[in-house]
Amino acid sequence: MTTEHAAAQLNAWDVAQRQFDLAADRLNLDPGLRRVLREPRRELTVHFPVKMDDGTVQVFTGYRVQHNLGRGPAKGGIRYHQDVSLDEVKALAMWMTWKCAVVGIPYGGGKGGVIVDPKKLSKKELEGLSRRFFTEIEVLVGPEKDIPAPDVNTNAQVMSWFMDTYSMHVGYTVPGVVTGKPISLGGSEGRNEATARGCVYTVVEAATHLGLDLHNARVAVQGFGNAGSIAAHLMAHEGATVVAVSDSVGGIRNMDGLNIDRVIAWKAEHGTVRGFPGAEEVTNAEVLETDCEVLIPAALENQITRENAGRVKARIVAEAANGPTTPEADEILFANGVFLIPDILCNAGGVTVSYFEWVQDLNRDHWTEIEVNEKLKSIMVRAFGEVLTQATRNNVNMRMGAYLNAVQRVADATAMRGLYP
Ligand code: NAD
Repeated sequence: MTTEHAAAQLNAWDVAQRQFDLAADRLNLDPGLRRVLREPRRELTVHFPVKMDDGTVQVFTGYRVQHNLGRGPAKGGIRYHQDVSLDEVKALAMWMTWKCAVVGIPYGGGKGGVIVDPKKLSKKELEGLSRRFFTEIEVLVGPEKDIPAPDVNTNAQVMSWFMDTYSMHVGYTVPGVVTGKPISLGGSEGRNEATARGCVYTVVEAATHLGLDLHNARVAVQGFGNAGSIAAHLMAHEGATVVAVSDSVGGIRNMDGLNIDRVIAWKAEHGTVRGFPGAEEVTNAEVLETDCEVLIPAALENQITRENAGRVKARIVAEAANGPTTPEADEILFANGVFLIPDILCNAGGVTVSYFEWVQDLNRDHWTEIEVNEKLKSIMVRAFGEVLTQATRNNVNMRMGAYLNAVQRVADATAMRGLYP
């Protein structure tokens, strides 16, 4: 079975609930709390019209899900992709709850998405879709309630339209309603690189723990967008050799090393990494199985499964993407001695700097990039240490270590608040 086929048969919500169940079992969680935390608090589905350039009106479907609001407002990105589903958004929202708890920032988990291939829309159509979708989900969002951010196929431009739409409705500028904005609109220094930077901080910690010299490490990266391309760039900066990268079209590989800045320029010009001179063309599945020390999945869910996990050769798997590894694959990787840095820890740099952005917006403040990166590093290094301690103490993998910390924190907050009414 190909990776794409395996991914299509797996349901991200089923995976998210199974991961939660494993942690809840181990924590011996109170049955009532378990029932509460196992389901999202709110799920909004919207069908909304957009006027297309050819004069027709098309109706799109989108979602905003709030999984848990126990520790603070909902936080989580908005994805534009043709395969978005309510179950996928529910899974991503639940993972956001655990992610915010694992790094100790005062948010609950949320996520949104629209079923659309944005590459098929003109800029005007994309703006119309973004403004109307945000209008539809305004019953849930707000700077004190639920603060969206970028995810797959959304970026600072889309966040600017969201912020402007909300501000037009209330009659004044509200920068704190979304994060991932451009600097000119109250964005934070370092937010664009934050997911990748946080991921690389955790890889450096893992390498130190394992006694692996990153100067001698080869790196493969699946997905070459915000998270993947910047992670590749930063890994090269750490002295590692990036040997393979891929995007939705396919992958490229050169075991002597790829010049990542040139690959980034190539992708900007050609829309894909494919065709990059001096590299062999490989499939996305082959990228995952590349002979390397560090593998960074930075695309979509369910890429490392029971079917291909045994062929992963990396020593460290750093989950820049959300949900790239299934529970069955987790067991295989752990048994094979692969050190996996789980998504809710590995890619938490994005939401952490989103939190910094929100704090700056609410305080009408602006921090330097050095300040942002120092604060990010201290949070990522502390959270990594806490997860490693938990995993080592219980002789479990790092995902379970992260879940034990996160679920316990959310459960404690929920129990202390008590049951309303
Ligand atoms: P993006 O849209 O910037 O990039 C996605 C990349 O994945 C693109 O290069 C695309 O071509 C590639 N891709 C899509 N389908 C693929 C496939 N089947 N095989 C290989 N590559 C494929 O998105 P992003 O923001 O970089 O998000 C990537 C992952 O990181 C997602 O799982 C997302 O949830 C996660 N993430 C992102 C952020 C963030 O701040 N942007 C934060 C945390 C986690």
